[in-house]
Amino acid sequence: MLTITAIKAFNDNYIWVLQQQPHTQVYVVDPGDASVVIDYLQANQLTLAGILLTHHHNDHTGGVAALQTYSHNRLRVYGPDNEKIEGITHPLHAKAKPRFTLEYLSAELQVLDVPGHTAGHIAYVVEDALFCGDTLFSGGCGRLFEGTPAQMLDSLQQLAKLPADTRVYCAHEYTLSNLKFALAVNPNNRALQDYNERAIQLRRQNKATIPSTLALERAINPFLRASDTEIVDSIKQHFSDLNHANLDELSGFTLLRQWKDNF
Ligand SMILES: [Zn+2]
Repeated sequence: MLTITAIKAFNDNYIWVLQQQPHTQVYVVDPGDASVVIDYLQANQLTLAGILLTHHHNDHTGGVAALQTYSHNRLRVYGPDNEKIEGITHPLHAKAKPRFTLEYLSAELQVLDVPGHTAGHIAYVVEDALFCGDTLFSGGCGRLFEGTPAQMLDSLQQLAKLPADTRVYCAHEYTLSNLKFALAVNPNNRALQDYNERAIQLRRQNKATIPSTLALERAINPFLRASDTEIVDSIKQHFSDLNHANLDELSGFTLLRQWKDNF
């Protein structure tokens, strides 16, 4: 059985640990900080077999060198082949090789190209778990640092097409602030209201809201629902100085992302 555990890092990052019982060799996704990973390995008597990286930002890759040293340079480090990341031993590109296997894990991994937040951002799917880095968040999506809105919309649509019961393991606990914005643009969405209440309770108990599921995100995440009638109306109202005669899905998504950037 594949178990997935969170290691908290920095203010709001999650470093996900993949372990196939009964093996004690594990993989971590986006280790921005080596020290919390090493503490976790030692506390649980685990060995690190490798690292999966989604994109080049330092809060996702900053621990790679120290973990490699800690593991006597035996780690397999997977990551996008088109971003500048030190230490990758196994560069990946979805078009060249969409699937690969890892020692100690029985399931195949699928790689998806999801540019937008960064130019070469990738995501991983293992069984029913999606590791989407900073592309899809619960209730939101990543900022567009390097890609275009069209790329991000395309990437999110690619993720949204995965099975509804897919669990969404994003890299940050941004849910409450995302839901504040989601409620501002989609105030009468009942599923969103309910989820916001649940998320507030979880955070009060210092519990993670992650993983979410794709079924939930499709119901509540405004960036997967940019053509929803109420959201479209909110966009038109907020950007009332613009001409909205041709507000298609991409224009709506672009304005929504812009609105969130300044929310
Ligand atoms: Zn990032």
